[in-house]
Amino acid sequence: MHANVHRGRDYTPLFKFLLANVGKSWNEIYSEAASRLDRPEPIFWLVALTERDRREFVRVGESSYYSGLYVDDGLLLRVNPKLGPSSLAPSCKCCTHTFNGVRFTQPFRLADSALESG
Ligand SMILES: [Zn+2]
Repeated sequence: MHANVHRGRDYTPLFKFLLANVGKSWNEIYSEAASRLDRPEPIFWLVALTERDRREFVRVGESSYYSGLYVDDGLLLRVNPKLGPSSLAPSCKCCTHTFNGVRFTQPFRLADSALESG
């Protein structure tokens, strides 16, 4: 069973833009990204404004995962820079799971499907 989170518009280009600019000035990244959007909210699906909101990864839609981001000292950073397409296991067999747009390298295994219940 899949929760339909943020269903609708495809924000993949936005997320790729944010990821491509990790390590750079948040103010510039934000104004550039916000100028391309009709509303800024999707930026904050990935970017945590407070320490409490920081997440190592964020799921968008059914099976697209992205690095969680945050801002420190004016720079956009990854919450966990070590996380990659081999870090997570797919939560189901029917979808193509991706991490930052790259397919998961781990196969689906039943035992791993508990991942999402956290
Ligand atoms: Zn599925």
